[in-house]
Amino acid sequence: MRTEIIAVGTELLLGEIVNTDAPMIAQGLAELGIGVYFQTVCGDNPDRLKSVLEVAKQRADLIITTGGLGPTADDLTKETIAAAFGKGLVRDEESMARLREHFKGRTMTQNNEKQADVPEGSTVFQNDWGTAPACAFEGEGCLVIMLPGPPRECTPLFREKVMPFLEKRRGGALCSRYVKVFGMGESEMASRLSRQMDSWENPTAAPYAKEGECLVRITAMGKNKEEAFAMTEPAVREVRQVLGDVVYGVDVDSLEQVVVQEMTARGLTLATAESCTGGLMGKRITDVPGASACYLGGVVSYHNEVKENLLGVRHETLMTKGAVSEDTACQMAQGVRKALGADIGISTTGVAGPGGGTPEKPVGLIYVGISTGDRTWAVRILRPRQSRESLRRLASSTAFDLVRRHLEGIDHA
Ligand code: ATP
Ligand code: MG
Repeated sequence: MRTEIIAVGTELLLGEIVNTDAPMIAQGLAELGIGVYFQTVCGDNPDRLKSVLEVAKQRADLIITTGGLGPTADDLTKETIAAAFGKGLVRDEESMARLREHFKGRTMTQNNEKQADVPEGSTVFQNDWGTAPACAFEGEGCLVIMLPGPPRECTPLFREKVMPFLEKRRGGALCSRYVKVFGMGESEMASRLSRQMDSWENPTAAPYAKEGECLVRITAMGKNKEEAFAMTEPAVREVRQVLGDVVYGVDVDSLEQVVVQEMTARGLTLATAESCTGGLMGKRITDVPGASACYLGGVVSYHNEVKENLLGVRHETLMTKGAVSEDTACQMAQGVRKALGADIGISTTGVAGPGGGTPEKPVGLIYVGISTGDRTWAVRILRPRQSRESLRRLASSTAFDLVRRHLEGIDHA
């Protein structure tokens, strides 16, 4: 199916509100494996909407509109679309009953009634989140779906009612799996998987990059969910095998989720010592529900004195090697592990910028440490030209990945 999404609203054209409905719909359609070919924005003007529809009819077989279903005079989408497809409007009794119920005890002005009108032959999706229902009808070889504009109505109506309707019409079921990767760039990942990405048709494999990480989405279409899932299994195995130990999980939310899960499963505890991340590691760990089962706590040791006094980093190390150094990272990780009585301690120290860099210690230089009781080590990261925010995220992700690799028994370099 070739889809065109048409967002109707003059305030969208003026830039007064951001068109969030269209990407929401596009993402939902992607989950269903339905391709979006065009997105259009049009003002509340019947002639221009009509001309947009004439174009859409030619180049799409699924047309989804948002906005202009309300009671006011500028809400003209339904009338205009029905006319463009040569359909009359009929009153939907259930929508009318719901409107009366909505206005019970208040006066319902006449203009509200038109919200219950739909093009003849429509499937009506009752709006449990507002007053104007969504509807779908077929005409001139197209399936046309109209949704109300306000996102708090449009989103649940689309996801809970329209998506199942589209899925049923298409027949079969889709299953998407997500292979999550840390420590390999999107371009390298894509080049290693080029054969699979180019030749696979069902399932398909597609790479994505997000917040310093990558993922491969594997999607299969089967007769039902179970069959679709089974079809993804060998593909997931192959992708894991091609990419190796940079894969930190499949269908997991995040590195921190994997850390909490694996530490908890082994009955181990974690402590954090943070300099350049300033509490981000603790925040990300405690974002995971159930983190208390393994996370004891952390020290934000921004100042050298705190590194020395609370974590036991040697004064001499700070003087000779500096706060941003392999030795300091190691001593921080070891120090916090001992101070909190944890099984594993992790640490970050670095120059996050934008100021404060020197030729020896440039912005983007970070050391991440881990101490496990048996051993303590640190890795060095150098990423100039990255924002403070992404450097801090990278530092915390690297620390979590060190824990993950240690637990999986993967050798570190
Ligand atoms: P209502 O019954 O509220 O009038 P409607 O279906 O007629 O709903 P519009 O009048 O076009 O929708 O828009 C109502 C409000 O919904 C807008 O002021 C805006 O806040 C929001 N909205 C409309 N379209 C979009 C969109 N594409 N993306 C995000 N928000 C939108
Ligand atoms: Mg309106």
